[in-house]
Amino acid sequence: MRAPATAGPHVGVPVAPVQLYQVSRHYGAGETQVQALADVSVTFPAGSWTAVMGPSGSGKSTLLHCAAGLDRVLLAGQDITHATDAELTRLRRRAVGFVFQNFNLIGSLTAEQNVALPLRLAGARPSRRDVQTALADVGLADRGRHRPRELSGGQQQRVAIARAMVTRPAVLFADEPTGALDTGSAGTVLRLLRRMVDAAGQTVVMVTHDPVAAASADAVVFLSDGRIADRLLRPSAAQVAGRLTRLEG
Ligand code: ADP
Repeated sequence: MRAPATAGPHVGVPVAPVQLYQVSRHYGAGETQVQALADVSVTFPAGSWTAVMGPSGSGKSTLLHCAAGLDRVLLAGQDITHATDAELTRLRRRAVGFVFQNFNLIGSLTAEQNVALPLRLAGARPSRRDVQTALADVGLADRGRHRPRELSGGQQQRVAIARAMVTRPAVLFADEPTGALDTGSAGTVLRLLRRMVDAAGQTVVMVTHDPVAAASADAVVFLSDGRIADRLLRPSAAQVAGRLTRLEG
């Protein structure tokens, strides 16, 4: 049996806002060039949850990748634009967690082993207790020995959230985290994210197509043609849907 942990997995960085400034991105060249992001500056406040919405092709994925890659990003007010690749990789592992639409769990590993992975990557020795606590936090204390295929979609996403949170990252990036889930499981995942923001002071940035999911966030940022078109604070799902329809129209 392993020695009990003497400390929690405090490999994260303090609660931090994420600021993108003047981010432009294009794909291709010449006549076929596409401007995916056009001079976007946006702040995702610390300890709050922001949903990113917009029509297909408006630049949501590109924005999330720039932010998650810490590309032209200020983290906790620090300019990390000039960090080396090695520094950025280290910072990403400590500061940033990811949740994806399709969970991206490793099928051959148990839930516990999946959750322990980021600790190993961060150079920490995962303790059973840290991993158990992370699984208990998402209501899966009794599923640690299960492999992903033995879990429902909603349970797999909760394992993915436990995995993202085990290093206590300052920022959690979520790409359509409820996109593959039924309404009930989606609700469970959204309540979990809310608890992380409120209880743990996490900063969450979530791309979603779902007005109900977006209305769970503190703010909704709308993209259109690679630009920020609007920002609504605590909108209802109906307000989100209405704004989106006008952007798509
Ligand atoms: P969204 O996530 O809102 O659908 P994206 O960020 O994926 O938008 O895309 C923004 C724009 O950039 C779109 O016009 C898209 O076609 C284009 N784009 C995205 N990725 C690529 C790529 N790898 N090559 C060429 N164009 C791309």
